[in-house]
Amino acid sequence: MNKTGIVRDPRYLNHMTEEGHVESRRRLETIYTMLDDPDMAGHFAEITPREAEREEILLIHSPEYMKRIGATEGVEQTALTPDTHTSAGSYQAALLAAGGLFEAISKVVSGEINNAFALVRPPGHHAERSRAMGFCLFNNAALGAMFAREALGLGRVLIVDWDVHHGNGTQHAFEHDPAVLFFSIHQHPFFPGTGLFTETGRGKGEGFTVNVPIPKGYGDGEYAALFENLLRPLVMEFSPELILVSAGFDPHKSDLMGGMKMTPAGFAGLTRSLMDMAEMCCGGKLVLSLEGGYHLTALGASVKAVLRELAGLTKASPPEMSARAARRKLNYAMKRSLYVQREFWMLDA
Ligand SMILES: [Zn+2]
Repeated sequence: MNKTGIVRDPRYLNHMTEEGHVESRRRLETIYTMLDDPDMAGHFAEITPREAEREEILLIHSPEYMKRIGATEGVEQTALTPDTHTSAGSYQAALLAAGGLFEAISKVVSGEINNAFALVRPPGHHAERSRAMGFCLFNNAALGAMFAREALGLGRVLIVDWDVHHGNGTQHAFEHDPAVLFFSIHQHPFFPGTGLFTETGRGKGEGFTVNVPIPKGYGDGEYAALFENLLRPLVMEFSPELILVSAGFDPHKSDLMGGMKMTPAGFAGLTRSLMDMAEMCCGGKLVLSLEGGYHLTALGASVKAVLRELAGLTKASPPEMSARAARRKLNYAMKRSLYVQREFWMLDA
């Protein structure tokens, strides 16, 4: 059994989007209610979030941008983009989202807990250095990686992004940086349009951005096979000291935001795959942060399956799952990935 931490706080619900917006407080309400299910309650260590400090936010975002988001505090409604709005409590929620992830990372790196899931909002992976985008204000995962390096002294961090959308903000934060390996698997063509196979990083960071853009219709087997057959050898070679996950649940088959066919069992399989990799390279240090996921029932069930896997209450078999991959779909993504990634990594076949 693992000691698994969870970040939850009612103040994340104070980030209010307009009526009918898919990224609503109901997402976290659904997850927080699920945490009280009889098979969940008592199995997880509560982590109290703190607000990220200004200096910490500035590790990724510009001072002007921080000021612009700060100015939304106490203002009933501010439209940052046509689809990204804030309410009076959004700025604090965004600081707590990053700071909650920092606390989770600190406790995992110190060994106080084995792994953790920051159940936070607003999400982060679309947020650019100076621009809100796609429901995201501050880039939680990118900030988490910088926090791990600057405050905790880690050298190499892996960020895996399995949200159905490409994590453009995270990629741009680290595309010049060989200390952060960014691996994203996402639907393509699709919002935000970035994340092609050939986007592999720049300058010294060349090779440390790995994009796997896939057409719709991929499910548990194909995702698991891409983790086991493509991501695993990269991770073993890169040897991260911490694995962070931009965990979006919009690849779920019921989530109409995307066209993927993942199930809760599949997300548990991906979690187990990453737990195994983390065990091999960094003592199991794995921290997830919530990104998208808009079908409430699917979101609750998927987060539950992931949390139960993290805690060791279930044990998925990634090899069995990946054996069920549809060959044609898998070959499409593997062939293109290998063609590009062989230049940078030791990959067979
Ligand atoms: Zn998404």
